[in-house]
Amino acid sequence: MDGRSPLRPSALLETVDQAISIKYNNLVYDLEATGHDIVTLSLGESFFDVPAPDFGGFEPDELHHYSHSRGLPELRRRLAKYYGDEFGLPVDPDHEILITAGSKVAIYLALLATVEPGDEVVVLEPSWLSYATQVWLCGGVPVSVPHDVGVFELDRYVTGRTRAIIVNNPNNPSGRVYTQAELDFLHELAERHGLLLVADEAYNEFVAPGTRFVACGAADSGKRHTLTINSMSKNYGISGWRVGYVIAHRTLIEQILKVNQHLITCAPTPLTRYLAENFDTLIERTRPQIQRVVETRNEVAGWLAERGIEVLPGSATFYLFASLGDSTLGSDAFAERLLRESGVSVVPGIAYGESCDHYVRISVGAETPERIRRGIDAIARLIANTGG
Ligand code: PMP
Repeated sequence: MDGRSPLRPSALLETVDQAISIKYNNLVYDLEATGHDIVTLSLGESFFDVPAPDFGGFEPDELHHYSHSRGLPELRRRLAKYYGDEFGLPVDPDHEILITAGSKVAIYLALLATVEPGDEVVVLEPSWLSYATQVWLCGGVPVSVPHDVGVFELDRYVTGRTRAIIVNNPNNPSGRVYTQAELDFLHELAERHGLLLVADEAYNEFVAPGTRFVACGAADSGKRHTLTINSMSKNYGISGWRVGYVIAHRTLIEQILKVNQHLITCAPTPLTRYLAENFDTLIERTRPQIQRVVETRNEVAGWLAERGIEVLPGSATFYLFASLGDSTLGSDAFAERLLRESGVSVVPGIAYGESCDHYVRISVGAETPERIRRGIDAIARLIANTGG
């Protein structure tokens, strides 16, 4: 394109690609629209039986307008109680929480409010694909830690420019849950170097049956260095509603509030009103379904092992991060061939970092066990057919 064309993108955007997982999902939607049956193991959501919202009990004026840009007070209070009662992280609903249009934007607002140009932000691979891009869009420098480096070795990645470490617990795409010792180490590292710990807990309900989720912020109740991100998307099975939130020290929330006011104004009023009203019934409804999908996830780990496919360690979420073993294909080529030849969609591991190009993410949230089995049979076949 002509360098002076009014259609030229900014130099920054020219370095940014589409989110690979969303690109694959769009491809699936397009294929399905033309009559193809796709075994969809690429979606970043779990499908639950959740009733359609009924707004009949509300006055139109309660629904149609902007609402408080910190988030509807009733929902803030309910979410504060959720973190306080269930995870031992006390939250002042008036000053320490902000609800916005999804946790993806919550992370971006938090980064915009804290990262200076040139600041480094440490992201742990496999890392959810938007962290590095968002850091980059804020003028920061993402510092990626390869997947085989342990948490206790993170000192090596901290420099005088490090501003924050993003910890995704439980992790998308591996399903890994951080141990108490690892969380303690991260807090100690943050204290020692004056860093912000950004704890993305979007999948906190998706832990293995019989285990208890430990919120990162519980060990920092004064929120001196921990900022917590969470979402209604996954735990409530309503990712399309776009409701997420951030919990942080009131001084940070004040900064994030400004950015929210300039970019979003407020999370959707009718949806947050409905959620405040139906919080308990919704979570009661999804919790057994969450437990079942986590059980399925761990069963599928067994099916993969039976086929000689290794996964990165993990027990939570509805994702598995599977090794391509002897295949000589890169993960993008593998995912494309799998989709084209077998009608099975997965997300290429390269989306989660350079160290992850020999993996694919398998999501078990949107398909029946029988179809998941069909999908992993196809993965095993393609690995065998493309071996060196
Ligand atoms: N964090 C992680 C780890 C995710 O996987 C996702 C969605 N895939 C998000 C944040 C964003 O979720 P949402 O914007 O729907 O709240």
